[in-house]
Amino acid sequence: MWEDLYKQALEEGWEKLQNIPGVITGFHSTIDGLKKVDASLIEQLLKKIGTITELPEEPTSAIRKPEDLIIDLLISIREGLAYQRMIENEETFKWTLENVGYDQLRLGGTSANMANLLSPLPLKKILVYANPLTRELAELFPERDNLFILTGEDGKPVLRSPRKAWKEEGIFAIHWILEYGEGLRVDLNGFSFKSPRANRFIAAWNPVNCRLRVSEEFKRDIFLIPERFSHFLVSGFHILLERYPEGKTCEDFIIPVASFVGEMKEKLGVKVHYEFASIGSQMIRNSVVKNIFPVIDSLGLNEIEFATLLNDLGEQELAKELREGRFPIVKLVDGLIKIMKRTTLRRIQLHTLGHYISITRDKNETEERSALLFSAILAATRSLLGKYETFDDLKRGIEVPTITLTGYEGIKNIDEFGVVIVPTKVVQSPKLTVGLGDIISSSGFLLS
Ligand code: ADP
Repeated sequence: MWEDLYKQALEEGWEKLQNIPGVITGFHSTIDGLKKVDASLIEQLLKKIGTITELPEEPTSAIRKPEDLIIDLLISIREGLAYQRMIENEETFKWTLENVGYDQLRLGGTSANMANLLSPLPLKKILVYANPLTRELAELFPERDNLFILTGEDGKPVLRSPRKAWKEEGIFAIHWILEYGEGLRVDLNGFSFKSPRANRFIAAWNPVNCRLRVSEEFKRDIFLIPERFSHFLVSGFHILLERYPEGKTCEDFIIPVASFVGEMKEKLGVKVHYEFASIGSQMIRNSVVKNIFPVIDSLGLNEIEFATLLNDLGEQELAKELREGRFPIVKLVDGLIKIMKRTTLRRIQLHTLGHYISITRDKNETEERSALLFSAILAATRSLLGKYETFDDLKRGIEVPTITLTGYEGIKNIDEFGVVIVPTKVVQSPKLTVGLGDIISSSGFLLS
């Protein structure tokens, strides 16, 4: 039965995407700077900052000077853990650019990634928000006819390919992905250690995106262009800080974004999906729940982010049962119902390695099922081939076996909600797994 449903979902999804007027993704597009960390780079960096005689247990809460960055990197190496910290001042950013540099630049940020991953699909228009759009960032976007930036030309707002819309050159924001291998040895003054596994430390300098400042031009021009957009994928709250050097808090930046999203809904008639992503701070999560949830229609997350959200909303017991029981489907559904009852969300889409679950108020369960199956085909294809370009690529994804059934799959009506649980396709030796969550949630939302 599921294989037939999968085949049907592929045909239906491909067709339906062509009828979507347009998709906007905002407000976080950036440049990732990849750098391989080896013993000689560490030695070089230590020479610059002077010897370190001891390393704290935990990384610093924010990077305020070059020494903080080196200490955090070394702690990440010692533990083999993927920490991420924001760089808080321009001097440290400049120092890092000069002394660490990068081996390769890559497109980064949830909005850019979603736009990139959606662009091979037969969508008419994808408008990606990227600010500041420098030449370096613009050239990382793929060249596709359906991918646009909102820009000004002869005093008029127009949609242009990112590559034709950049205004200045230079790197003004960068997320350093400092990757190290297993067994990397670090010798400090009187002690040494080795990385227990390969991992990475991320240090990000992004003064505009980390305040989610939407440009005044965009706020004005999005309502002036004649082109129609029907869907908006909002994200980027995970790179906010709790408090800023100038004395503001995350809420000072979340409230204006919430009000702008509300305005977009009202004036453009867009449906809004928010991709939760992992937000380390409870203060930021709480503010997002309070201010952003009321203005969005759809929420996407993985099971770990979901347990954290339940915990924040006072469901500690259930969150604990989920974590300890390795996320049983029945408990995930219990949690989804609780969140739907407490919020005004129209749908929530949850992805795990073997199943996707969605819960909706809209009585559109068969469309939801088809949407989830289509997104599973995209995830399987990307894992298998590392990319997807054509309809034929997706046919390869559909051949990946659908994993074991537990008996819970299908459509259920619980209280006033429709619950859809689908078994997914899991690729045994995936070529690529980054960005899968983004593609699962964004495509599921567009087709739901
Ligand atoms: P990310 O932030 O890296 O996108 P998420 O946890 O949000 O991570 O999403 C990862 C999802 O990708 C998993 O929930 C799972 O559904 C899917 N996935 C991961 N590995 C595979 C694989 N080998 N084959 C198919 N799907 C996979």
